[in-house]
Amino acid sequence: MKNIPRIFIGNNVKNGMIIPADKSIAHYLTDVMRTHDFLAFGGGFEYSAKISEDKKSIMIGERTAHTDPSNDVTLYFSPIKHTDDLINMATQMGVARIVPVITERTVAHHINWERMRKIATEAAEQSNRNSVPEISEPIPFNKLDLHDICFADERFAYDNKNTTQISNNIKSILVGPEGGFSDSEFATLDAAGAIPVSLGKTILRAELAAAIAIGKLL
Ligand code: SAH
Repeated sequence: MKNIPRIFIGNNVKNGMIIPADKSIAHYLTDVMRTHDFLAFGGGFEYSAKISEDKKSIMIGERTAHTDPSNDVTLYFSPIKHTDDLINMATQMGVARIVPVITERTVAHHINWERMRKIATEAAEQSNRNSVPEISEPIPFNKLDLHDICFADERFAYDNKNTTQISNNIKSILVGPEGGFSDSEFATLDAAGAIPVSLGKTILRAELAAAIAIGKLL
């Protein structure tokens, strides 16, 4: 395990760029990690990088050979009490996009999305990604595109039914809130041909359900 720090610099990071170093990065590199050299990433690529002696600027060097291990899965989820854990795990699992969906039983309405983006950035740095998943603005359930989507639903745990096969073209998964999907949401998903996915016979917390469901799409 290499211990050279990896820092997300932004999606537009490019070789040859010189940018002002923000104070927290300067502190982290020089006081905590005691180095001036680091790996800068963003937009799918990684670069060797350096902070100047006066700690005021960052120089982006050559692109490294590291290929982005991120995937093209989109996670749709209802905001929940443990949204921070969900974002953290989903980012570690390499998802490209995270889309909050407000469902009938969504109760967590006051999420600090800026904090969530910070959590995603930190998780991306430590999981060797070259990109940070985009976290979009919350959308209402009725605006959700139900084409080529699967959804995790515990009804199948109660029914003791087997897992549905998920075909390779499905790259989007929807996970419900603490209270699950309502009957009318279930009917809407079913009518649209969304694929129900069982994650076993126990009822999982939504954040764990999300992580396992993402794993099924990889
Ligand atoms: N309130 C429900 C549980 C909801 S769990 C109840 O007690 O019956 C929250 C979300 O996690 C669900 O909406 C579903 O998306 C997912 N989930 C939890 N356990 C699951 C399982 N065994 N199979 C599939 N999805 C599950």
